Amino acid sequence: MKAYTYIVAVLVVVALISYTSGYTALNAYKSWVNYSNPYAGALERVRYGDVGVFQPLADNLVFILLDGVTVDVLLDLRKSNSDVDRLLSMGALYANGLSITPSYSVPARASILTGAPPEIHGVSSNEYKGSLGVDSIVRVAWERGYTILCSGDGSFKRFFRDYIRECVDVEEGAGHGAISLAAGLDLLRRYSNTSKVLLWIGVADADMIGHRVGGPAEVEYNATIINIIRLTLELVETLKREGLLNKTLLVILNDHGFKRGGHHGGLEPEVRRVFHIIHRTSR
Ligand SMILES: [Zn+2]
Repeated sequence: MKAYTYIVAVLVVVALISYTSGYTALNAYKSWVNYSNPYAGALERVRYGDVGVFQPLADNLVFILLDGVTVDVLLDLRKSNSDVDRLLSMGALYANGLSITPSYSVPARASILTGAPPEIHGVSSNEYKGSLGVDSIVRVAWERGYTILCSGDGSFKRFFRDYIRECVDVEEGAGHGAISLAAGLDLLRRYSNTSKVLLWIGVADADMIGHRVGGPAEVEYNATIINIIRLTLELVETLKREGLLNKTLLVILNDHGFKRGGHHGGLEPEVRRVFHIIHRTSR
């Protein structure tokens, strides 16, 4: 009888422990699956009427995002390639920025355009499908009468679909940057006669090749950087020839670099190092 009571007591304890641990695990799983960032949306929109009257710096604001260009490689290539040097000398260069973590393309774009980290804007992976949790430069430009345009960047299109007038889709593959830059130029030509323009151009070639061949130190990766820089310089020359450059504030930037072996997403300094060049012709 004593042994029987003991066995029942052990079974009851085992059953209780199984139940409570199962319950806790299930709750933990549910909270993870249904997680939503409690801080997203915490920042208030800026009300520009309260700040004063602004004179826009330029009629057009053009961003060219060179996805996955490693800054250390760029500065190294500058020594041997005159096109890279020309681009980096074109405007104010800031080469010691630090990307957010995770150092992925889509969270980085969201941070560039909101000024907020992923904890605030809510975009913590490339798979994120929602809208942004906070205000952005795009909405502000739209409110100030800028026509919002984009080419070659599906995430920009997704985030700002409520504000975009026209966006040219370019599938990632050979020639992505060339097509995207040409489409961006076409958009700027068509819209800038009648409106101020904010144009976002995505150039994905270095990122695509970086993932394929293994990033820095691989000849194809470095050559791809040189090629997209030549294409970018050609666009700048065309803008100059057509009288558009002196009406445009041009920002050329990256979102993250690569480490050797072809990965990014982590904390490595060469992955997180970011740059931008700001070019503005004085009137
Ligand atoms: Zn990227």
